[in-house]
Amino acid sequence: MSKLKNKVAVITGGNSGIGFGIAQEFKSEGAKGAIVGRNPETLANAVAQLGDDFIAINADVTNPADLERVFKETAEKFGKIDVIVANAGGGTVGTVATIGEAEYDKTMDLNLKSVYFTVHKALPHMNDGGSIILIGSNAAHRAYSSFTLYGAAKAAVIFFAKAFSSDLLDRKIRANVITPGTTDTPAFDKFVPAEQIEAVKTHYAGVMPTGRIGQPSDIGKTAVFLASDDSSFMLGAELLVDGGMTYLA
Ligand code: NDP
Repeated sequence: MSKLKNKVAVITGGNSGIGFGIAQEFKSEGAKGAIVGRNPETLANAVAQLGDDFIAINADVTNPADLERVFKETAEKFGKIDVIVANAGGGTVGTVATIGEAEYDKTMDLNLKSVYFTVHKALPHMNDGGSIILIGSNAAHRAYSSFTLYGAAKAAVIFFAKAFSSDLLDRKIRANVITPGTTDTPAFDKFVPAEQIEAVKTHYAGVMPTGRIGQPSDIGKTAVFLASDDSSFMLGAELLVDGGMTYLA
């Protein structure tokens, strides 16, 4: 039986990488809803693959007014919202010696402010009993070189899962967080020179206890669990989906 039949989901960053993997797994379990991003081309490609049950909304998750529009449009289109996935985010590489104020604000806006306002703006449109899924990172647990601010923002996202669950007890809305390890997404292209991408992936796979890096579907299947009633006893929880990379490698 489809685990998410008739559930309506909003997935930020659903046009690429992990977010698209989540959207694909949601679709295969019977969900419908909206994917959110800024790139019209990848939004159009993603929604074409997801089919008629999904819409694409062009919005910047660092802008609360954009987010308000996202949830209003989704609720108008589908009549309700059951599941929110605050996935959009990305890293800034640099140390405390090199990152200045502009990069600080950019990283925190994308990885922390966006998560807060995604949930804040969703709540007036969201069903009681719904599920909020946040995407953190294993970089919150280990001080990987130069992931200083990104790791700090993601550590706060893990806290948000607990705090949001506590704040929303009266509405029976559960918030949980998935912390991926290295996952095969276009984000690699942004940080690794094109000619080194395959070598870097092979290196990471070699140090992973599982012998491979993560795929967006690994995170997508975990998100299905957290979105479904199978996880109804879980709130404020973190699921580390990292192939053993963080503590066992
Ligand atoms: P991608 O770069 O593939 O995807 C990022 C997504 O976020 C895109 O869809 C992008 O859409 C969207 N996005 C970025 N900025 C904004 C914005 N301001 N407004 C709206 N949408 C935005 O990255 P991943 O799939 O790898 O990352 C997804 C999440 O997973 C992130 O939160 C990341 O930190 C986390 N993560 C990833 C890991 C990995 O190894 N890949 C490991 C641990 C965590 P658009 O370009 O259209 O704006």
